[in-house]
Amino acid sequence: MLSDDTPRYGVLGWPVGHSRSPAMMQAAGLRYQHLPVAPEAFDDTVRALYGAGFRGANVTIPHKQAALALATTSSPAAREIGAANTLSFAADGSIAAENTDAPGLIAALGDRPVRSAFVMGAGGSARAVVWALRRAGADVSIWNRTAARAEGLDARRVDAAIAADVLVNCTSVGLGRSSTGEDQFKDLPLDADGLVEYTTVVDLVYGPGQTALIREAGMRGVDTIDGLEILVCQGAMSFTLWTGLAAPLDLMRAAARNAETPA
Ligand code: NAP
Repeated sequence: MLSDDTPRYGVLGWPVGHSRSPAMMQAAGLRYQHLPVAPEAFDDTVRALYGAGFRGANVTIPHKQAALALATTSSPAAREIGAANTLSFAADGSIAAENTDAPGLIAALGDRPVRSAFVMGAGGSARAVVWALRRAGADVSIWNRTAARAEGLDARRVDAAIAADVLVNCTSVGLGRSSTGEDQFKDLPLDADGLVEYTTVVDLVYGPGQTALIREAGMRGVDTIDGLEILVCQGAMSFTLWTGLAAPLDLMRAAARNAETPA
């Protein structure tokens, strides 16, 4: 039973209606909601959240850099990555920023080997992924459609796919409509048969059903981690940050997988 003073939480994004975080966090016991906020209203809205009963918020596209800039304090990880996905609000008006995307990826990888990694994409999520993989000791190579965007990341830029322990898709390719998956590979620097060059394939993208990358890798017997597992691992760390409690991972995983995603 929720009372009026039950702490509130939410996910800030624009748009954000597709996010499965509310279903996942509600399953974990939090009073948690979508918080659609346009970029121009972000700062004022976030500053007003404590007064409305909010004690924390996750942050997704396009607000992760703005969240870091707005915060009163930030973790070294958030500062080094240049983005925050978790905010905590205190009674004195201060806002603390953390990035759980990076440790969430490492938690999802568990004890799999990560001596080498090939990252596709150089947007916001790739920054956290490269940071996390480098911290885990991996030799990281990166490919991006717009090569110049990968400059400044702590990884070797390449213009073709290379074999590695782990492949991580940080592009938004994969949410398309294809049932065969073929049209999604045309935007990537490898084809489905090339997936056997990796021990583990990680796809940050999630949506209704499997992405082409996860499906084709699985069909070839390659170990996979999909975007929902990544979502659960970062969400579990936000949950623990806010509550001090161990996250109910199985409940969160089941809720994230069963949640409806609007078409
Ligand atoms: P972002 O900052 O907008 O970056 C998008 C990336 O995708 C860029 O590297 C972009 O390349 C590339 N891209 C877009 N369309 C492409 C195409 N047709 N062909 C090749 N490359 C293309 O987004 P983000 O924050 O990094 O997120 C990327 C994806 O990961 C999104 O789908 C997001 O939903 C997902 N994600 C999932 C989780 C999770 O918890 N599972 C967490 C974070 C993100 P250019 O630079 O050339 O434009």
